[in-house]
Amino acid sequence: MTQVDAIVVGGGLGGLAASIVLGAQGRRTLLLEAAECLGGKAGTTTIDGVTVDTGPSVLTMPHTLLGLLRTAGLAPDDHIQLRAASPGFRYHFADDTVLDVHHAVGDTLDSVHATLGGQAARELEAFLAPRIARFKIPEKIWCQHDPLIRGATDKTDRRAIRAACLGL
Ligand SMILES: Cc1cc2nc3c(=O)[nH]c(=O)nc-3n(C[C@H](O)[C@H](O)[C@H](O)COP(=O)(O)OP(=O)(O)OC[C@H]3O[C@@H](n4cnc5c(N)ncnc54)[C@H](O)[C@@H]3O)c2cc1C
Repeated sequence: MTQVDAIVVGGGLGGLAASIVLGAQGRRTLLLEAAECLGGKAGTTTIDGVTVDTGPSVLTMPHTLLGLLRTAGLAPDDHIQLRAASPGFRYHFADDTVLDVHHAVGDTLDSVHATLGGQAARELEAFLAPRIARFKIPEKIWCQHDPLIRGATDKTDRRAIRAACLGL
């Protein structure tokens, strides 16, 4: 068997991303996948003639995907064209309430205010504010770094992440 530097178990989004980064670092990488096709939860299945997603349908961190393509030496524009949907998505509740959710938090709060009332909007804002603040630190460190230099996360970064996660 050919000698490898790294073995990645699982060819879902995580394993595929890891393999791309390792490959870009010049490491011979073996990706093992138990299923018949790659993708893991990100796939489709057909039920009664209708094709549905089995997992992700919303690209929550587009910059991460674009960064991964660049890491692989690909120009994102040559492969995908991302367009922000407006609204981001729409909830249809059983009682016929329809609620639009937008990319900008302020727009979503306006939408909740218009659909569910001021009290609901205030409750959502109070729920979101501390969580958005806490997410900003790990997001900046883990998701916006180039994957090739992410390993350089230093002690200060780790302290900031811990503080953010503990809500300090
Ligand atoms: C219904 C649903 C909706 C979602 N919607 C979104 C969304 O809108 N946006 C978003 O960002 N995320 C969404 N997610 C989350 C996202 O799908 C997952 O975070 C992501 O796909 C997980 O990828 P993964 O590689 O970690 O794991 P998986 O996709 O689970 O991949 C694991 C892989 O490992 C393989 N495997 C397991 N054990 C072995 C073994 N022993 N040997 C070899 N192979 C093995 C499996 O076959 C599988 O292919 C959603 C998830 C679900 C279920």
